[in-house]
Amino acid sequence: MTSSPDRYVSTRGDTAPTDFAEALLRGMAPDGGLYMPTAWPTLGVDAWAPGRVYADMATQAMAPFIGDALPAGALDRALERLTAGFAPPEVTPLRRLEDGLYMLELFHGPTAAFKDLAMQLAAALSSEALQASGEQLTLVTATSGDTGAAAVAAFANTERVRLIVLHPHERVSPVQRRQMTTVDAPNVLNLAVRGDFDDCQRLVKGLLSDESLRAHGRFSSVNSINWARLAGQIPYYVSAVSQLAAMGEIRAPVFVVPTGNFGDAFAGIAARKMGLPVAGFVAAVNQNDALARAINDGVYARKAAVETASVSMDVQAPSNFERLVFEASGRDPAVTRTLFETFAAAGAVTLPPVLLAALRAQVSAVSVDEATTRSEIAHAYAAWGQVVCPHTAVALSAARGVDRALGPVIALSTAHPAKFGKDVAPVLGFAPDPPKVIRDLGDRAERFEVIAADAGAALAAVRGFS
Ligand SMILES: *Cc1c(COP(=O)(O)O)cnc(C)c1O
Repeated sequence: MTSSPDRYVSTRGDTAPTDFAEALLRGMAPDGGLYMPTAWPTLGVDAWAPGRVYADMATQAMAPFIGDALPAGALDRALERLTAGFAPPEVTPLRRLEDGLYMLELFHGPTAAFKDLAMQLAAALSSEALQASGEQLTLVTATSGDTGAAAVAAFANTERVRLIVLHPHERVSPVQRRQMTTVDAPNVLNLAVRGDFDDCQRLVKGLLSDESLRAHGRFSSVNSINWARLAGQIPYYVSAVSQLAAMGEIRAPVFVVPTGNFGDAFAGIAARKMGLPVAGFVAAVNQNDALARAINDGVYARKAAVETASVSMDVQAPSNFERLVFEASGRDPAVTRTLFETFAAAGAVTLPPVLLAALRAQVSAVSVDEATTRSEIAHAYAAWGQVVCPHTAVALSAARGVDRALGPVIALSTAHPAKFGKDVAPVLGFAPDPPKVIRDLGDRAERFEVIAADAGAALAAVRGFS
């Protein structure tokens, strides 16, 4: 096989190479691994020249991954739709906070969190792929908030796609719930599960393995292991370097990424592999610190998840860590498979020294506790007049610890603070002003079905949804 950015293999090595459309519609590879392109495309220095338009940078970064797997013009149409949903002309504006410290704002989209950037593209590209193949697709996902909201906004009224979202009943914030339930789209079903997020995930797993549901067409999940979502996150790293250059800063930056499933951070690492000048990556995690312990101590071990203010990062087994291990092992599927199978079976695995050194060359990791997260929210307001969400605060805290001699430091800001008012208001003494997309939710009618946390109830609800 000749390697090419538009041919995909699995990190576990037991899947025939496939194209972008198949990787997009399947999500996970059939052997249980994650799809990876067989080569990285190369971006020239012109790619991040100052003043470039977001859609142009995104086309250049993403087109090589798609090749001819989608109808002509599919990516242009998807990017047009994406950028129309973001108010700032830069789409993801870079804000200077102080000398050598910047914040990349990724929350100006339809649901005010960064998942919009990848989800809007994934929805538009899925629709194009299904149009071409004549198939139907049913997507199910469990959500603690942001993913479900972004998925509903992205897939509502998308032809050939049905979307079923399971959220824990009365355990998501009112804003997040209304973002999911006030969308008037016949192809979206919201299920409120009497249980917690883990119950929702368990029900989704059950549904995905139910063969009878496949009669309707393809059946898959919207989650951050989807290669298309990762590819859709590469452009804002390019844009950040372009905007930095426009501000007169030409040194390669250090990116500090608030991290849960490591999708966002891995997209940055992909951008560097494509030639983007980057001085380093820091993955900033909350007290759910499996990734930080793996990188810092050399043992990847599961711990019970704890609830934190940066709830979208409450992840103990970051799914995209497998992609990083695959790359760092020199793309060795045997090493990757053994490591993740051992982790799944035993709950812990020691990283071989050579692999650990290769991982550390890609990324460092810092864990930020809850008290520090709160004091960082206060600091951001006092020092820069910025009201930030808890996820962003985790990144900013880690970013302020980075030696600026390495290069300018860019913290990624992943959600609008108004989505997390319950955590931000007690620290600042006032509630963050909601952006227009949240004000517009108004008091529109909500549509959702409450079900028991059992497989039979989930199956019946899905069967009743046509
Ligand atoms: C999902 C999410 C993250 C974590 O991103 P990963 O790609 O899972 O690492 C961070 N912040 C917010 C607001 C999110 O919704």
